[in-house]
Amino acid sequence: MATDPLRIAIVGGGIAGLAAAWEWVPLLQRGRVRVTVLESRDRFGGLIRTDRRSGLVIEGGPDSFLARKPEARELCRAVGLGEHLIGTRPDIRGAYIYHHGRLHPIPAGMQAGIPSDLGPLVRSGLLSPWGKFRASWDLWLPRVLPRDGRDVSVGWFLRRRFGEEVVVRLAEPMLSGIYAADIDQLSLAATFPRLAEIEHRSRSLILGLSRSGPPAPARDPASPPPSLFQTLDTGLDTLIDTLVARLTAAGAELLRGHPVESISREGRGYRLGLAGGSGRSFEGVILATPAYVTARLLGALDPRLGALHDRIPYSSLAVVGLGYAPEAIPRPLDKTGYLIPRDSGFSTTAVTWLSAKWRHRHQSELVPLRAFLGRTGGPDVAELDDQGLLGLALHDLAATMGLTAAPAYHVLFRWRRALPQYLVGHVERVREIRERLQAWPGLAVAGAAYDGPGVPDCIASARTAVAAVAGALGMQTAGTPGPAAGSPRGL
Ligand SMILES: Cc1cc2nc3c(=O)[nH]c(=O)nc-3n(C[C@H](O)[C@H](O)[C@H](O)COP(=O)(O)OP(=O)(O)OC[C@H]3O[C@@H](n4cnc5c(N)ncnc54)[C@H](O)[C@@H]3O)c2cc1C
Repeated sequence: MATDPLRIAIVGGGIAGLAAAWEWVPLLQRGRVRVTVLESRDRFGGLIRTDRRSGLVIEGGPDSFLARKPEARELCRAVGLGEHLIGTRPDIRGAYIYHHGRLHPIPAGMQAGIPSDLGPLVRSGLLSPWGKFRASWDLWLPRVLPRDGRDVSVGWFLRRRFGEEVVVRLAEPMLSGIYAADIDQLSLAATFPRLAEIEHRSRSLILGLSRSGPPAPARDPASPPPSLFQTLDTGLDTLIDTLVARLTAAGAELLRGHPVESISREGRGYRLGLAGGSGRSFEGVILATPAYVTARLLGALDPRLGALHDRIPYSSLAVVGLGYAPEAIPRPLDKTGYLIPRDSGFSTTAVTWLSAKWRHRHQSELVPLRAFLGRTGGPDVAELDDQGLLGLALHDLAATMGLTAAPAYHVLFRWRRALPQYLVGHVERVREIRERLQAWPGLAVAGAAYDGPGVPDCIASARTAVAAVAGALGMQTAGTPGPAAGSPRGL
């Protein structure tokens, strides 16, 4: 017997929201659901934004995704962008760290800021003799993590194992690019649970990491190692544009300029309150909004759910994209760029030499660079005016890489409250959020605030959310674990 399609709303049209909409397409095409994406702004994509005005491809937000997590690559292929996937340049590997007026290569064997080999660390100019000696204590120190399994900060843990210098000069600059939080508040359980396992198993992280590093797949020794990152040669917003086009063609309703202001229970479904006092009803709702928006929306249904989301703070940052005449570049761009530790006093945290990272992306002779500015606890760079922001980036480039020429092109991106901070206790908070959501069948959350801030993590969270909503409504998607019971419509 034919039944009316169930109405599904996805609030937020960033990558998590659009990936969630994509998951519904098979059921949409079979007439089982109607899908509506409600995005508050006048464009989809959220933090994914690409500037091509100068002929350079400059990303304002993410410029790539981790290749070892398959979700983003799979989505690119599924929407027909497989042939545009590229890896980083095979001839250029690694990056520098700025310290005391010089760029030092990141020592070999570092895994996200954590040494797995003492040799390269000892030879590096990044640490003092005392700092190197202190780092070696890891080899004989007993286990330091609390026996009761309590979460601690990454800074707390690494400082005890390796000492202050490894934390300040290596771990903090490498990790703050991925996780926006202060390393002394960043949850070990949420970001590097593997390190706790390694300490538990091997006691020493250096010994444990050197034994348990990722197994190298068999490959031709003459061929370059596989790329750690992938992107689209056309720019990551191509994924957004393609998703929007394919979803529209599949019959999804994609609404821009539609902020959702409230959510309330209505029978077995939910009513979303929209601007101007109007509203729409849905059987299933996925909130793919930043945690501080989700907090406001869910707080009215369940104050505890609101409070848990409110305890996920966000960092602001700015990205300055620059194009230089080749003769203006004062040094060889022989690595992918460099990181700048907090103790240097600069607002810039990292500079990417884009032409060294990616090949064949640009229709311009200009040399593209990208500077990231803003630190947790530091000045709010996203509030600077254009002149102030550009001036700060140029000042830091002159001081750290001797680049004093004026850029031929620049573009500024300000990201206010953009990156969720995974503070100590994050895993526990997310577990409680998911547990409490069980009381609201057909309602789920997705996005960067929960299980990882990377693009693949956001896509994975979207799949999980769709599977949960579909399961609650008695349907199956590719990600649904098994046949669902208690279907409200017997589907
Ligand atoms: C500068 C920068 C660099 C990054 N680099 C990388 C990288 O290299 N690799 C990587 O994997 N990740 C990177 N990230 C992280 C990654 O880009 C983000 O975590 C991810 O894009 C977040 O996607 P999302 O859909 O969860 O959230 P968002 O992209 O924030 O989307 C949420 C959407 O919800 C909308 N919204 C908000 N309120 C409402 C409302 N009331 N009603 C309707 N809609 C609403 C917003 O307008 C927005 O479009 C980077 C992030 C930044 C900022």
